[in-house]
Amino acid sequence: MTNESIREAAAGLFPGGVNSPVRSYRSVGGDPVPVVRGAGPYVFDADGARYIDYVGGFGPAILGHARPEVTRAIAEAAAEGLTFGALGPREVELAAAIREATGLERLRFLNSGTEATMTAIRIARAATGRDLVVKFDGCYHGHSDGLLVRAGSGVATLGMSDSAGVPQAVAGLTAVLPYNDPAALIRWFDAHPADTAAVIVESIPANVGILAPDPEFLQVLQAVPRAHGALLIADEIITGFRLARGLSGVLPAADLVTLGKIIGGGLPIGAIGGPAHLLGLLAPEGPVYQAGTFSANPAVMAAGLATLELLTPAAYQRLEQVARHLENGLRTAIRRAEVPASVVRYGSMLSLFFRPEPPRDYAQAREADTAAFARFHRAMRARGVLIPPSQFETWFVSLAHNEPEIDATVRAAAEALREACPA
Ligand SMILES: *Cc1c(COP(=O)(O)O)cnc(C)c1O
Repeated sequence: MTNESIREAAAGLFPGGVNSPVRSYRSVGGDPVPVVRGAGPYVFDADGARYIDYVGGFGPAILGHARPEVTRAIAEAAAEGLTFGALGPREVELAAAIREATGLERLRFLNSGTEATMTAIRIARAATGRDLVVKFDGCYHGHSDGLLVRAGSGVATLGMSDSAGVPQAVAGLTAVLPYNDPAALIRWFDAHPADTAAVIVESIPANVGILAPDPEFLQVLQAVPRAHGALLIADEIITGFRLARGLSGVLPAADLVTLGKIIGGGLPIGAIGGPAHLLGLLAPEGPVYQAGTFSANPAVMAAGLATLELLTPAAYQRLEQVARHLENGLRTAIRRAEVPASVVRYGSMLSLFFRPEPPRDYAQAREADTAAFARFHRAMRARGVLIPPSQFETWFVSLAHNEPEIDATVRAAAEALREACPA
């Protein structure tokens, strides 16, 4: 099959020709790159072209693609049988490793990040006996009905402020506040002191590009909901094991934490972690129902274990070093090209915004020049560099990226920036 034959067949089979919206390249134009395989920092399309990859599977691929230790672990697990619907040894090992790295007392494994946040909210509602949930404008927490309200990610680029098919009765239980606005959160709790079950937030929002949290906002987030008996849910589905071996450390006072992406080693996963009194509300111990045919699947657990084994403190130092090299190179390229662009980076996650200053919130992120980003994306792709196909997705650097790939990326960016913003 060629790129064209794959895209043509997909167009007749899948809505929009894809199985997840942002893969369609609608916001950057041009035909999506069908990926046939990956190796280290590279992906290859069906016509044989090679790209330096910063999509990183939208977050999980922290080791790069097809790392032998991980693929071997999956093959070994698969050879022993794929799914039993029974407790097994690997889930115990992976949970113990996560507990040691995060301090989370109890865990439940699920099959996606969407399931993790959806269930965390169910726990919070059961724990508090309240219905309302607060989220922040532009934060993405998966696609469950109640969280699909001004949610960034694919929704941001597609310009949907909301999704069709979500009943008003459900959406109406979710309040959306501006990010980085402590006064708005205080005002919310002044007006609704006793009805809010939970405040959910990305520890570092990374689904509208990256938003840098203000220290004062983080302080209010960790104090005000608690003072009113509401739980704080830290969504660490991107940041968990991305910025450090364990949690990001941004919201140490969170009551519940959701994990996903990296901990599955490239296979589908989600997890909820927290204290025994909250996780104990889950069935069969408690009254909150949640279940999954594939939960804690042996192959997924094996991939996660093999991945976590390689994520040593030295690995994070190396990621920091390589990603800083990329950041510095991009900053220099932006300065030399004299284009109105800015870079935000936390560890191995990075955003390049076509606006002169990094945004503080979703409203500012939306002011970025998405047409310039689309031209930049196409120009990078033409030079063999694949960045996420939206201004509002984060670039991920992996342990397989080395200085030669970063230097090649920066050289490509120096030219692509000029194409994106012609004088
Ligand atoms: C990816 C993501 C999710 C959803 O995870 P899925 O596995 O795609 O369902 C939730 N929250 C954040 C912060 C994410 O980045």
